[in-house]
Amino acid sequence: MSKYPHIQVPDGDKLVVKDGKVVTPDRPILGFIEGDGTGPDIWRASKYLFDAAVKHTYGGKREIAWMEVYAGEKGNQVCGSYLPDETLDALREYEVAIKGPLTTPIGGGFRSLNVSIRQKLDLFACVRPVRHFPGVPSPVVAPENVNMVIFRENTEDVYSGLELESGTPEVEKLIAFCKETFGWDIRPDSGVGIKPISAQGTKRLVRAAINHAIEHKCKSVTLVHKGNIMKFTEGAFMKWGYELVREEFSDVAVGWEDCGGDPGDKILVKDTIADIFLQQILTRPKEFEVIATMNLNGDYMSDALAAQVGGIGIAPGANINYETGVACFEATHGTAPKYANLDKVNPSSLILSGVMMFEYLGWQEVADAITAAMTKTYQEKTVTYDFHRLMEGATLLKCSEFAKAVVENLN
Ligand code: NAP
Repeated sequence: MSKYPHIQVPDGDKLVVKDGKVVTPDRPILGFIEGDGTGPDIWRASKYLFDAAVKHTYGGKREIAWMEVYAGEKGNQVCGSYLPDETLDALREYEVAIKGPLTTPIGGGFRSLNVSIRQKLDLFACVRPVRHFPGVPSPVVAPENVNMVIFRENTEDVYSGLELESGTPEVEKLIAFCKETFGWDIRPDSGVGIKPISAQGTKRLVRAAINHAIEHKCKSVTLVHKGNIMKFTEGAFMKWGYELVREEFSDVAVGWEDCGGDPGDKILVKDTIADIFLQQILTRPKEFEVIATMNLNGDYMSDALAAQVGGIGIAPGANINYETGVACFEATHGTAPKYANLDKVNPSSLILSGVMMFEYLGWQEVADAITAAMTKTYQEKTVTYDFHRLMEGATLLKCSEFAKAVVENLN
């Protein structure tokens, strides 16, 4: 019997997290939120491929027990809430889930359901790998030079929702307090937001980025910030990042300040100013591997980098708390409502988020099988409308047909 009013828990086993490492049983229960708009189309296609890839790899010895959890419009229909408590409880209890895009309900009391899920589950790292698949159309000359993973802090910065609207008594009070206490002159008709950046929030994010660099044998981690202007928030992010290297990673990593740019065999932790970084990802992307940055910078950077390798239609993402193990893998694009139920859009973003999920579960063979089959499918120029319009001589496939083409290429 399920303890949840609406969620049906399937037969299977829970994941266990030991010392921050996920231990995956042979029949793990994994949550999914199909999402709004084009979500159901891309989820159907992705699930079909995930199940086929697991079967192809393990011949029936392992299988996923999918558990639907509700959010967005379906959450409202089934449970009477866009983000039901039982959904958050189940995501916490079963540790790993994957989700399609969600509409942000207007006037529903949420700034964004996606931001709410990240904040309520304290999924502090937004992880976005950005790499190019041969054959995928790109606006840059050498997209193959881009191969980075962005670790974006998910819970702080100007995204923390500490904002007051212009003209309200609350903002007037805050403006008066700032004047009285600090002598700050803020124009009286301003809206005001607060940008908190903490040592704790910075260090857990940078720790995750360095651990990723260690695991994947990367040579560098770059802290990206605007510390030249915002010294006590973004500048402090850089300072705390370097401090962490000295405190916890001195055997395997060294900060630029401590080695003058010559790290020897160790991982080099360096930093760069955000605006220069946005130039350098175009002019010399090979210099960057793992990026650690704050919420707003990370948002802009991941979309700019995604554009270099083919756009948001194929950009995967995950929101992870590396301390509790709770993780939610997600398509990074929105619901594209004009294409809903047309079986038309590109499911690659959700599929590649699934690849990240299989890596997180330790089912690397499945991740590799899907990646190889996707690569082959792009190279054969069998693609959905978004790539079809940019490729000469390509065959146009529906969303579900693309997933079938990838499944055929598993063999
Ligand atoms: P969007 O849904 O991302 O769509 C913008 C455009 O991106 C589409 O018109 C389409 O471009 C392209 N696109 C999106 N998904 C695609 C896919 N799977 N394959 C190919 N192309 C794709 O952005 P939006 O229209 O600004 O937002 C719509 C809703 O999504 C809003 O309610 C927003 O709050 C929500 N949203 C959710 C998330 C999330 O859940 N993570 C993220 C962002 C936005 P073309 O028409 O040019 O082909």
